[in-house]
Amino acid sequence: MSPGDTLFGRLLNRPPGTPEATNLPLVPGVGLQVYLDSEGHVEHLGGPVRHALLRLTARSVTHLTDYLLPHSGLVVEGRPQDWQGQTLDLDFFSQAGPPLHLRGWVQPQGDGWLLHLLDIGDLLGERRQARSREQCQWLAGQIREQLRLCSFTRLAQVLGEQLQRVSQYLHIPCLALAVLDDQEQGWQIHQHYCAPGAPQLWSPAQGLGTALDSLNSAAPQALQASVQPRLSSVFGPNPGFAVPYCDAQGVAAWLLCADYDAGQQAPDLGDRDWLALATAIAAPLLESLREHRHQQQLERLEALQALLGTGWWEVFDSAEVQLARSLADSLGLPATRLSLQDWFARVHPADRDELRSQLQALQDEGTPLELCVRLQPCEQAQLLWYRVQGQALGIGAGRRLVGFMLDISDIKNQQQQAAAAHARLDNLIASSPAVIYVQRYVEGALQPTFFSASLQPLLGWSLADCSDGALVEHVHPDDRAVYFQRTRQLLREGTVSTRYRVLDRQGHAHWLLDEAKLLRDDLGLPVEAVGLWLDITEATLAAEQVRASEERYRILVEDSPAMICRYRPDLTLIFGNRPLATYLECAPEQLPGVNLGSWMSDEQRAAFTQRLAQLTPQVPVSTAEVNLRLPGREHAWWVWSDRGVFDEQGRLLEVQAVGRDNTEVRRSQQQLTQSAKMATLGEMATGLAHEINQPLNVMRMAIVNVLKRLGNGDVQVDYLTDKLNRIDAQVQRAARVVDHMRVFGRRSEIEQHPFNPLEAIDGTLSLLSEGLRGKGVELRLKESDLQVQVRGYVDQLEQVLINLMVNARDALLSKREADRDFQPWIAVSAESDEHVVRLWVEDNGGGIDQRLLERIFEPFFTTKPVGVGTGLGLSVSYGIVENMGGRLSVRNGDEGARFCIELPLAVVD
Ligand code: ADP
Repeated sequence: MSPGDTLFGRLLNRPPGTPEATNLPLVPGVGLQVYLDSEGHVEHLGGPVRHALLRLTARSVTHLTDYLLPHSGLVVEGRPQDWQGQTLDLDFFSQAGPPLHLRGWVQPQGDGWLLHLLDIGDLLGERRQARSREQCQWLAGQIREQLRLCSFTRLAQVLGEQLQRVSQYLHIPCLALAVLDDQEQGWQIHQHYCAPGAPQLWSPAQGLGTALDSLNSAAPQALQASVQPRLSSVFGPNPGFAVPYCDAQGVAAWLLCADYDAGQQAPDLGDRDWLALATAIAAPLLESLREHRHQQQLERLEALQALLGTGWWEVFDSAEVQLARSLADSLGLPATRLSLQDWFARVHPADRDELRSQLQALQDEGTPLELCVRLQPCEQAQLLWYRVQGQALGIGAGRRLVGFMLDISDIKNQQQQAAAAHARLDNLIASSPAVIYVQRYVEGALQPTFFSASLQPLLGWSLADCSDGALVEHVHPDDRAVYFQRTRQLLREGTVSTRYRVLDRQGHAHWLLDEAKLLRDDLGLPVEAVGLWLDITEATLAAEQVRASEERYRILVEDSPAMICRYRPDLTLIFGNRPLATYLECAPEQLPGVNLGSWMSDEQRAAFTQRLAQLTPQVPVSTAEVNLRLPGREHAWWVWSDRGVFDEQGRLLEVQAVGRDNTEVRRSQQQLTQSAKMATLGEMATGLAHEINQPLNVMRMAIVNVLKRLGNGDVQVDYLTDKLNRIDAQVQRAARVVDHMRVFGRRSEIEQHPFNPLEAIDGTLSLLSEGLRGKGVELRLKESDLQVQVRGYVDQLEQVLINLMVNARDALLSKREADRDFQPWIAVSAESDEHVVRLWVEDNGGGIDQRLLERIFEPFFTTKPVGVGTGLGLSVSYGIVENMGGRLSVRNGDEGARFCIELPLAVVD
């Protein structure tokens, strides 16, 4: 009998020391002796067991069956002599409650019989117990197998089923398995089962605290829980039974049976059976949980290593290294185990020897290894930076060299980039004319605490030279107020940009642009100012020079007698100087915005803008004489030079113009032209007299003839009418000549107009043709119906033609004086192409001496006798044609001079 069984017997409320009932000797004074009469009536009782029997109420005759439970009464039916030779198993009512199991036999005793019985209760209990234990073991085996074989995902379900099975088998209303919680600070319900109708004592994951530990002193045995306050948190007010499961570390789980009295419900199960049952449930469960937790941890570790690009390594026998799978993968290694040589081969040559030496030191002296190395996963791949750390574990022969590698490429790259940026910045600062400075805020003042190295080459000062208020000493005395103002503004507004002069060590002033920003702490209080000085001396001086030069030019422009202005392509003035303003009768300030075109006629303006349109970056200048109607003056003529200013695409941005008033010159020219015209008229006087004489002669002849007829009295009306009509025609002819002379003698109009040049030829011929014919000069006219227009003055072109024809006539007549047979002629013709029209005047007067050809257009050049020639005819004609945009030229033809008037065709809208 085991101690457990002893304990268990106590738990089941059994009296200790109950002897077994097998093979007991028939000894009087042992067991129970019942003296019976022949009918089976009890005469008296003997032996110690008799005290345990239920006392019957005293009656006269008591039969043996009165002491027996009903089913035993059947065994002893009849009389004692019938029972001889049989083993009688009888169950007696006992005082304690449970029946007393007795075995015995009868033997004759005197007249009666002696029934000798021994207590076989323990023997039967043993058997039952053995059977129960067997079944319990079988159940435990089943449960263990079920839990061991099932997958983790089904574990909870299978455990639930097994708890239910145990509950049903042992009639346990509430059954639960408690395990230590994750932090191992207390017990918690892992899973529970409640039979239908049983109280719901627990819920999954319910914390039980440490109350169960109080039972632990008696572990590893099954324990009946007394209803103590500290266990009421586990079992409530109900009785309970807790069976521990112990592993190497102690109690690892509790099988809790609540609302349950094991002594009554499972009296046959010993402590060992309960412990075995708890083990069958808890051991595979905990094993499975542990395995799962371990698996999860491994997975987490793997994930962590893969995420961090890290992993462990271990060196074996100084020859081989094993790497974590994630590490081998990220290094592109085919296997996780490789020779040290191969591992070193992956390390960049620059780091290889250091790693080898540190590894050796780790191996020899256990010096911890810590190194950053570059590794090349494969040939083309980029280098990766790894931090390698290692340590020696254990001592002596069992020493292991283990460590980890962490991918720090990101950090290294950032470090390198930051270092490069830093170096670039340093370079930039060192090579720039900027000085970076830091001023610390100390009680309302800003004290320099740092200057970049560029301070020395720029000003020759060091930080020490500028500390303790010395900086102000270096600021130019005239600019100190600006400097103090700058500090105040910086402290007030947090930022400032200003310029002032600072004296260098040699006493030379430098213009500095000071840009500063104030940095504040979390409370908004000033901490320091960071700023830079930029040497802008050259720029400042250059700007001053530009300003001075601009001022000089401004004075030049302002004081110039010429009109100077700038205007946009739409003729709006941007600027105009005083002379221009004076002409336009306003102040110079009023000029911007005024449109130059407002003083021009529509035609002038059109011609002006057309001329501007022809300006190009290659030919940006154009000069012309423009005619304006100025306020208070009738007309003004300005010689106007424009210079276009273009952008990069060649678009005209603005025009700069210089002008001079040419009105007086123009007036003189007009007067000259007029004089020349009058002179021409004077010259033509003879021809004109002839021109008028001719009709007068015709009229006189007609009148004489009419008078003669009248004298004869032979006057018919028809004859008279005919003569009068002829006279009228001659009057009209004379009137036309006079009219044209009057028109010709007028001053030219101010503005040019388009006209057909053939009109000028007609006008000229009307004045000259009769006269020429009278002088015997043949006029050769080439019929033409040109429909073209030129721009200018028709009377002036006529004047040119008259000059040419009169000159031709003079040459012809002087030639005929020498040669009476000479047949003089003048040919006039016109032709045009798409751009110009040419009028030809040619004669057969022998031409102009080659040496004189260049000079004949000069004013006052004449070969005619004094008082005859003025020498102005061709010069004025040249001016007129040029003013019309054309050209007057001459060359000698076959027989005489050949003059050409070439005029541009007018563009008529
Ligand atoms: P003027 O007729 O008063 O001399 P012009 O300027 O008209 O002044 O002419 C200048 C000179 O040119 C003339 O004196 C003459 O010598 C020469 N000339 C002009 N036209 C002809 C011509 N058709 N043939 C020959 N000589 C000419």
